[in-house]
Amino acid sequence: MNVPLLDLRQQYQSIKQEIEPILLKIAESQMLILGEEVSKLEKSLADYCCTKYAIGVSSGTDALLMALMALGVGPDDEVILPTYSFFATAGVVARLFAKPVFVDSDPVTFNINPSLIENKITSKTKAIIPVHLYGQACEMNEILEIANKYNIPVIEDAAQAIGCQYKNGKPVGSMGTMGCYSFYPTKNLGAFGDGGLIVTNDEMLAKKLFQMRNHGMEPKYYHKFVGGNFRLDAIQAAVLNVKFPYLESWHQARRNNAEIYYNEFINSGLADCVGATSFDARNKVLLPKPIYKDTGVYNYHIYNQFIIRVEKRDELRQFLSSQSIGTEIYYPVPFHRQECFAYLGFPDEEFPIANALAETSLALPIYPELTEEQIKYVVQKIAEFINQ
Ligand SMILES: *Cc1c(COP(=O)(O)O)cnc(C)c1O
Repeated sequence: MNVPLLDLRQQYQSIKQEIEPILLKIAESQMLILGEEVSKLEKSLADYCCTKYAIGVSSGTDALLMALMALGVGPDDEVILPTYSFFATAGVVARLFAKPVFVDSDPVTFNINPSLIENKITSKTKAIIPVHLYGQACEMNEILEIANKYNIPVIEDAAQAIGCQYKNGKPVGSMGTMGCYSFYPTKNLGAFGDGGLIVTNDEMLAKKLFQMRNHGMEPKYYHKFVGGNFRLDAIQAAVLNVKFPYLESWHQARRNNAEIYYNEFINSGLADCVGATSFDARNKVLLPKPIYKDTGVYNYHIYNQFIIRVEKRDELRQFLSSQSIGTEIYYPVPFHRQECFAYLGFPDEEFPIANALAETSLALPIYPELTEEQIKYVVQKIAEFINQ
């Protein structure tokens, strides 16, 4: 059986008849940048994310960069963020010549450990960027409490988590000063290329971001400040407008697949429970918990990725590949171990959890069209490798 990590062609086949005429219409109109489709998308997503404003932009990376620019982050400033995330979260800080300040992860959720943030705050701290990794909300109450105490803006990196809700029912991206999303094709809501979005409830910031995406221009050829070309294409917005009504059903299918995985792993005897943080005879596979600190209240996890931890991760990955099962490592190298951040001089011992995650985490196929049979096959092959 063939189980790819992700197969976007299946999703396309299911909505092809709606997408094709719209692409043709845009081709005929030759209205290719911003425009009606972008405005329509911004309206739908501001509603969906429960924010007043949404600004369509060129990518999730640019969304984060713009959010920092809007706050005036620059040389000598510090920005606090998790060491375990996709590179963009730290890259945007360094591009503005500010200093990324890394924080270790929580072993249960893999998100930033909120109890380690306060110690990192200095008079230079200009923002905190929690990342809702894999589609699972960070512990926002604790993060916002610290941020409010020191009056530091929070930029939510919700690139992997559009539609995810924190345990209080609030959509991720709507709780901080600004929230950033990505429409990279592998995200739950993916475009036909690059795209991103920033949401905010702050009118001044929204106005600035709308101008910033077009070189800070207003009116035409008059520039109050330096922005960039951070515009979203009409074609990307049109594709996203077609896909958006299906998003919730795709989340549901991913959540259902995750349940099947949890049951299969527990029934196979590879895991004793969900949420264990250390390997032992009864937990040879660690299953991250979609719930935080045994509160009994669940985050609405949208499973952009389904991540397990295993000890012989690289060997398992190779074995699964030989059985036509696609997997990936998100991410093999935390920021403090990246060559480009060596100059920051963070000691490796400061990040034991992120280091362990980098060495043991493995993403399994979780996309909506996956069948129960395929999921059972994946778990069966993992059991075969571990029990051999
Ligand atoms: C995908 C992603 C980004 C960047 O989004 P792009 O649209 O690819 O630029 C930023 N942060 C995280 C956590 C991501 O997963």
